[in-house]
Amino acid sequence: MKIVDIKATKVEYPRVKQKTPPREADPYEGKIASGSPMAQSLGGRYFHKDKWVQGGQSGNGRDVGCIVTCEDGSWGFGFSERGRITASIIEDYIAPNLIGRDIFESEKLYDMMNRIMAPVGANSFASRAISAVDLAIWDLKGKLLEKPVYEIMGGSVTESLPLYASSNNTEWLLELGFKNFKKFAAWGPRDSIGGINKIEDEIAEARELVGYDSELMLDCWLSMDVETVVRISEQLKPYRLKWIEDALLSESITQYEILRNRIPHQTIATGEHWYTVHPFFHAASKGLVDILQPDITWVGGLTAVIRIVHIAEAAGIDVILHGGGGSVFGQHASYGLTGIPMIECSGPVITAIGVPLHEKDRFPGTPVPDNGKLIPSDAPGFGFEIKREWFPDFFS
Ligand SMILES: [Mg+2]
Repeated sequence: MKIVDIKATKVEYPRVKQKTPPREADPYEGKIASGSPMAQSLGGRYFHKDKWVQGGQSGNGRDVGCIVTCEDGSWGFGFSERGRITASIIEDYIAPNLIGRDIFESEKLYDMMNRIMAPVGANSFASRAISAVDLAIWDLKGKLLEKPVYEIMGGSVTESLPLYASSNNTEWLLELGFKNFKKFAAWGPRDSIGGINKIEDEIAEARELVGYDSELMLDCWLSMDVETVVRISEQLKPYRLKWIEDALLSESITQYEILRNRIPHQTIATGEHWYTVHPFFHAASKGLVDILQPDITWVGGLTAVIRIVHIAEAAGIDVILHGGGGSVFGQHASYGLTGIPMIECSGPVITAIGVPLHEKDRFPGTPVPDNGKLIPSDAPGFGFEIKREWFPDFFS
């Protein structure tokens, strides 16, 4: 079945309406990571849009959809983000080379996309473009075969995967029925010993709340230096963290080597900002980290994730997808691969205090956690319930 069109698109589906007003203001709002790459260069907090904020992103760019269409008019949908740059890579580099190829040669198409981008670098924005196209190809393969994607990957490997929830409001996450929890460090190296002590206070309080039959993790969102994370790790030993995440800037692979040598006892997780399979192979083969966390909409799509999970399994380490519970892509990949033991439910899943999870805005057809379980749709492809007209050309 020949591909006749590949388009970067806007994303204009009807939003899910939140009927329930929040019960109260979230005391943790805006407190994720002072504790963020931007905050570290700007002194822990900075002035943005008329107010002081902690942390912050370094420019977001809107969602980018991708529609791949075949000669019979059937189409598949994938998405990534970061706006015009990602969209232009899809249209200018990838589409002209893939149109005319067979939709079922997805392994070859993924290889082609990486090699098309290799002269300028297949990472970052290029990797996001590759992700959107690869995911649309998998969606369409499933639709044409009339099977869910996890089925054409080889079948679901488990009945139900454990979930963990990421937010600093542990009380609300408990009320929502989650059993495992990740908190974000709200202080960084510029906050010195006082910041480390505050992180300890918050982790101690959370451990007291959830007990020792739940997993508890700490995410540092690229914000620490080696010395600070060594001290945090030593100080938090009594609270039995399952892992410390994204302690250091993602490119600083040498720092990860040094960190591993300084705190060999500590389970270290990272990888949401690594692109292509190569950094994952390096980290796995050198034993630098224990849990790999690729994002399926950033790293190169499902084909990249399959390769990373196989590398991890050979190295004896786990993969837990970044935000895997928040998209149909992450849900199918997590149920279709044996090397993924948990699913993360983060910002795209968690609601404001008092608001039920099914009122969270999401792509139509995306399952939400129900009674502590999150089961992928068994509809063909990734199970989206979407209409073609919701995705007009990105550059129209
Ligand atoms: Mg993270």
